[in-house]
Amino acid sequence: MSFLIIFSSCSQTDKAKTKQLYLNKQERSIGSFLSGANFWQNSTKIEDYSVQEKNLIFENIKDLPFIVDSHMHLAAKTNVKQDNFINPKFDKYFRYPILSFKKNIFWSAFGVKSEQTINIDILDRIYRLTNYFPGIKYYGLVFAFAAVYDKESGEKNIEKTAFSVSNKYLINQIKNSPHLIPVGSIHPYQKNLKEEFLFLVKNQVRLIKILPNSMGFSPRDENCHLFFKLLNQHKLILITHVGDEHSVDSGHINNNNGNPLHYKKWLIKYPKLKIIFAHVGSEGKNLDNKGSEQYNFDLVLQLMEEFPQQTYADISAFSSVVERASYLPLLLKRQDLMDRLIYGSDYPVQMILPLVKTALWYMQWKNLIKSDASLLTSIYDKNPLVTSFLTMKKVKYNNKSFPKKVFAKNFIKIFNDRPLPIQLQKYF
Ligand SMILES: [Zn+2]
Repeated sequence: MSFLIIFSSCSQTDKAKTKQLYLNKQERSIGSFLSGANFWQNSTKIEDYSVQEKNLIFENIKDLPFIVDSHMHLAAKTNVKQDNFINPKFDKYFRYPILSFKKNIFWSAFGVKSEQTINIDILDRIYRLTNYFPGIKYYGLVFAFAAVYDKESGEKNIEKTAFSVSNKYLINQIKNSPHLIPVGSIHPYQKNLKEEFLFLVKNQVRLIKILPNSMGFSPRDENCHLFFKLLNQHKLILITHVGDEHSVDSGHINNNNGNPLHYKKWLIKYPKLKIIFAHVGSEGKNLDNKGSEQYNFDLVLQLMEEFPQQTYADISAFSSVVERASYLPLLLKRQDLMDRLIYGSDYPVQMILPLVKTALWYMQWKNLIKSDASLLTSIYDKNPLVTSFLTMKKVKYNNKSFPKKVFAKNFIKIFNDRPLPIQLQKYF
């Protein structure tokens, strides 16, 4: 499927029709109502925004060359040939009510209209949101997602996998889209590890994403050696989830695997290895090397101090998850780390309106956002990615905010010793 086809079909659809289109059976479900997807207007033109909304947007993008969103998820329907998978547990409403409720919310956030059109709907929504970001070029890093693999056999463990999106599928779907950048995903235990690395390199993929809490491995395990060796050899940047995880869950999450210190031995062994710690580890606690409990957030900062040439962190989901937002004062205080923080939305998490609203209330209550909260909510109706970006641009603590380099240039700088994703090479 080509994005050009999607693009031309979107531009012909008028707003009222699109709104109606989005209110079909799936969108009227409880999960969908709670996710806020019913209220999303899917705006494609700058005229859709009010004068105040436009002013707020332009005032915040005017000194930026472009925006990089370093953290966007994709999902796809189970298909053996494409090697995509969604655990059938999620459809067993009576046996797994919480899992199926979660899936319902995520489907709605992803823009799924019916079981028959899952893949088209998901790609269509991510394409529209990024392509119609008002007034500025918006580059999104979109993640493949590896299945769980068994340590002994190197074979896929479907039972323990919540969902997976193959590298091949991701690359095929977004290769014609100049502003979406594919991020591969490889499981350290998978048998065909070397071939998968070569496949990604051949397709000019420059980054790899993992989520050890849900993928069932400890990054500290010696069995991950080949993974880190190949990562280093091919000069790929690792984006890894650190800290607790709740979303990608088929009942097998292990939050000990989210300990940031698990990467220390690989950072020492491979001094050119570069890692982006997702969400600055802003949830939960883990043990440090002396066996005492520490906030994962503090453990990430500790590694960032210790490995200044090798470590980075993304600020994704700080605009939509209250627990993460509660770390904002501590993070904004650390102006010494601002060269190594990069912006991310954690799409589709920031599509979920109750999360966004609660986070905004919290930030207002803590005086982190002084005004504009109601404008930020009304902009959500047009494009939730704009709300997420503006929230992180506006947030302030003791007069300190995220500098503009966090939203564009810092990402480019990570690649000072290796090739950038082709979409961004013109900015180097
Ligand atoms: Zn994420």
